[in-house]
Amino acid sequence: MSLASPPHTQAPELARLVRLAARLAGAPAAFLSLGDDPPVYAGADEGWSARREAPLARSLCGRVVAEGRTLRMADARAHAEPALWLGEGAYLGVPVRGADGSVAGCLCVVDAQPRAWSDDEAEMLAGVAELAGRALQPAAALERAAAAVADGRISLRVLEKAVETMQVGVTITDMEGRIVYTNPAEARMHGYSVEELIGQHGRIFAPRESHRRIEPGPMDGVASWSRETVNLRKDGTPFPVLLRSDMVMDAQGRPAGLVTCCEDLTARKALERKLLHNAFYDQLTGLPNRGLLTHRLDLAVERAQRGEGGFAVLMAGLDRFKRVNDGLGRAAGDELLRAVAERLRDCIRPDSMLARMAGDEFAILLDEAHGPGEAIRVARCMQEVLRAPFNLPAGEVFTGASVGIALSMTGYTKAEDVLRDAAIAMYRSKDRDQGHYQVFDLEMHAQAMERLRMEGDLRRALERRELRVHYQPVVALETGRVSGFEALARWEHPERGLVFPDAFIPLAEETGLILALGMEVLEDACAALRRWQARPGCEGLTMAVNLSARQFSDPGLAERVERTLRATGIAPGTLKIEITESVILQLTAEVSETMSRLKALGVELYLDDFGTGYSSLSYLHRIPLDALKIDRSFVGPNAGAESPHLVRTIVAMAQALGVTVVTEGVERAETVAELRRLGCQFAQGYFFAHPLDEPAATALLDKHPVW
Ligand code: C2E
Ligand code: MG
Ligand code: MG
Repeated sequence: MSLASPPHTQAPELARLVRLAARLAGAPAAFLSLGDDPPVYAGADEGWSARREAPLARSLCGRVVAEGRTLRMADARAHAEPALWLGEGAYLGVPVRGADGSVAGCLCVVDAQPRAWSDDEAEMLAGVAELAGRALQPAAALERAAAAVADGRISLRVLEKAVETMQVGVTITDMEGRIVYTNPAEARMHGYSVEELIGQHGRIFAPRESHRRIEPGPMDGVASWSRETVNLRKDGTPFPVLLRSDMVMDAQGRPAGLVTCCEDLTARKALERKLLHNAFYDQLTGLPNRGLLTHRLDLAVERAQRGEGGFAVLMAGLDRFKRVNDGLGRAAGDELLRAVAERLRDCIRPDSMLARMAGDEFAILLDEAHGPGEAIRVARCMQEVLRAPFNLPAGEVFTGASVGIALSMTGYTKAEDVLRDAAIAMYRSKDRDQGHYQVFDLEMHAQAMERLRMEGDLRRALERRELRVHYQPVVALETGRVSGFEALARWEHPERGLVFPDAFIPLAEETGLILALGMEVLEDACAALRRWQARPGCEGLTMAVNLSARQFSDPGLAERVERTLRATGIAPGTLKIEITESVILQLTAEVSETMSRLKALGVELYLDDFGTGYSSLSYLHRIPLDALKIDRSFVGPNAGAESPHLVRTIVAMAQALGVTVVTEGVERAETVAELRRLGCQFAQGYFFAHPLDEPAATALLDKHPVW
């Protein structure tokens, strides 16, 4: 008996897996290289001709095989060895292992453009490589065995023994299709005993509809073929199989029968389904992921364009999620996300889709939503269900959702645009006040564009040195004299004139530009203070500089401040750093460390805008504060009737705690008198002076005003 063994008998199965790999990774091309032959390929043809021809050893895949581990390159252009580089922009390759665990080849996905490969993608590719490895096994084993018999390395008896113990079913049929031999694996797989099968027709395994005779005529010249099909067990249950049939020749070289290997694909199919599931579902919450939602949304956009019905997309971001993650740990964050997903499910009808987009962002696609009504109902429901506290093992947690809504009425042509606008609306609702919803409108789009433009402008402003610092005098109420200044950033915009910080500081914080901007203000302010302190009688003048929370997460902050102090030579005690409650609310070990280091330098810490936010005096014990600045809303023209009591309480408590009180926003003489009576030590506000540029502030000092 001899076995014909043409190359690539598993090609259809392997080609399918290669296509699967490309699809799962969202890559334009995938290759499976198994030896010296050109790789099995899936993808669009353009651009990959060199790679399609390349044998294993001449490609990055050769390296994967040699090293036996995953190779991940986000940008292969500069990092790949020139001799092995075949034009990939990005490359991700994993080894394919045979039955004995040895590396048999490499499965890779490539992209013409550089791109990052996620851990999930690497994992999925490894999963597909495992499938490919399994697909190789039966054929390879039989081929090896046949070759070994042919060249006398093993006897037929040994081969028979091997076939008897193989996990793959093997059946030999004669030219009439009668089973003349079958191994125990085949019998077991189909629920028969070997004895029951001998003499039966081979079609006993096949469902009725696929019964067909194998005619010797048309089979001439075909020595071997594979197919994926469904077989039946003795009890009638179907299961997926991979069959590979080889023609058996007699001594004269005439066809004498068929050897068919049968592999049960049930486990492999389940693994494939799992891989596909992982590609389209979020593993943490089990919800559809961004990919699947986008796919459904694409269809909804097309339907809406044909006028066949509208849709709405809600994008929800969790409030304070980062605090849970940072404060209670990632495991608690994961718990919270799972619990949130569970609650959000209650808000949607079965035909709507709830997806986890990324991190703490969820989205809902409502098909059949014609106006904002249904979307708003769902948004309210989302907010309602998230309102109750979450009892996590790590403790009780409160969250909420800011929701952005985009509606098909806007006339979208791309899913991407819908998601972008829903996100813009979500950020808008977050900005306004957490826990609200916002429907996207075109004005918002214009504003988002404007914001982008501003960001570019701000970057250039830093390069062109368009930032200025203005100084508002701080008055010691006991003497009525200027005791120092607060440095306030201004942007001298070439077209818009002087821009105030509220219009650019939040943007600078978001984009990280605040780091450069903040240092510039600090350096300018310290330099100005140095000049003023050089004047007779002004040695003790102080300078307050605002630092944002973002700057406190910069581990080099204390060092930079120290360098500035040294460069300008001002006494550290005359520099006051103003922080806001947001710094305290994200008080990590690093932030505490930075505060301690600043204090060790001799710099003083002021808490700005006291009374506007979370405002709890409890944290005064936790951080080394020197002063509170009572927010201007307590003394300004819009202050409420209860404000004087609040100011009195704050001053009394501050005195008890031994911290200084500065009141800002003082606009009237009566306020000054009242503050003096309450024992508040310092004040600033338009009543004394507006923020001034350096020459104007110098001129003010020259007048030695007393209030
Ligand atoms: P802030 O630190 O609370 O500064 C006081 C704000 O109140 C200043 O607004 C000041 O011009 C204004 N102000 C002073 N006196 C009065 C008054 O009598 N009545 C009223 N209604 N307002 C008064 P400005 O300059 O627009 O600054 C706004 C905020 O921007 C500042 O609030 C501060 O939080 C931030 N900021 C300013 N410069 C910087 C900076 O260099 N870095 C950082 N991180 N933030 C800055
Ligand atoms: Mg301030
Ligand atoms: Mg303030």
